[in-house]
Amino acid sequence: MIIIIRKDAPNREVERLKSLLAERNIRPHESVGERQTIIGCIGDVSHLDVTEIESIGIVERVQRIQEPYKAANRKFHPDPTIVDCSGARIGGGHFSVIAGPCSVETEEQIVEVARAVKSSGASMLRGGAFKPRTSPYSFQGLGAEGVRLLLLAKRETGLPVVTELMEFRDIELFNDVDVIQIGARNMQNFNLLREVGSYTKKPILLKRGMSSTLQELLMSAEYIMSSGNPNVILCERGIRTFETAMRNTLDLGVVTVLHKLSHLPVIVDPSHATGSAELVPDSAVAAAAIGADGLIIEVHNDPQHARCDGKQSLTPADFSAMMKRIDAVRKCAVLR
Ligand code: PEP
Ligand code: MN
Repeated sequence: MIIIIRKDAPNREVERLKSLLAERNIRPHESVGERQTIIGCIGDVSHLDVTEIESIGIVERVQRIQEPYKAANRKFHPDPTIVDCSGARIGGGHFSVIAGPCSVETEEQIVEVARAVKSSGASMLRGGAFKPRTSPYSFQGLGAEGVRLLLLAKRETGLPVVTELMEFRDIELFNDVDVIQIGARNMQNFNLLREVGSYTKKPILLKRGMSSTLQELLMSAEYIMSSGNPNVILCERGIRTFETAMRNTLDLGVVTVLHKLSHLPVIVDPSHATGSAELVPDSAVAAAAIGADGLIIEVHNDPQHARCDGKQSLTPADFSAMMKRIDAVRKCAVLR
């Protein structure tokens, strides 16, 4: 349910309405927009009497929200959310590129890649330390040592860093990490989502599960947001379809649909979607053209010897060339 407040309603009255809702176990979520102020009601609203609320002087109207996601819903928050990732902003017209290797391997590797992607215009560094691998015999990531090396690269370059959390018990290792990634395989690990959402307000990069609908993705965002963290970035990273020519099928149209359904920023990962370095730049350009709020791209200084996802990793030179195309496409005013 959302409550649309009359223009010029005194703040005191708005606060009084919020307290009344809180007394009824509803968490009020105020969104002050340019045109109107909306109070979103989070919680069980079935016992609220719409006519009683509509009779309050400052209330213009009350609207029930049919969708099961509330905090993530565009109706709750008509303006786009801008997520600030230690200075790199994503959403509401702010575009950021996150780049780096699939996994942190050595100090030389992560620092070299970090310097290279920064000089080509990336505004954040990625690097997995805890890796969700299909095979238990594959490289599982360096764990705590990987986080340490990633933070070292952060100090060397000043780039904010993104890395994946697989289990909540590791959270303290992430204290200096700027953005916590929840991977596709954990998108519906509801306990993890709830634990992370209540532990921190730091940005969460939530990747769409490979067989998840948009409603499921938004419900997962809702778990994080309803636990107390509003800073969620959604990520389309390709889904499973009947097609086998690429690692996954990049579902690019969801950028537009998610922007319609939700105020949260949406970024695209063409690396995991295509699975092949030669296919990444075109999909990245298309994502920028369709209005994505950012990209996450795998880059390795020696893709042939990468311990994970080398086939889909761009060299620093290829990444630099791709960034020039992204810049050009973003300057095309005709796109928006
Ligand atoms: C990754 O970003 O390296 C990763 C494992 O991504 P996903 O969860 O989308 O597969
Ligand atoms: Mn990867």
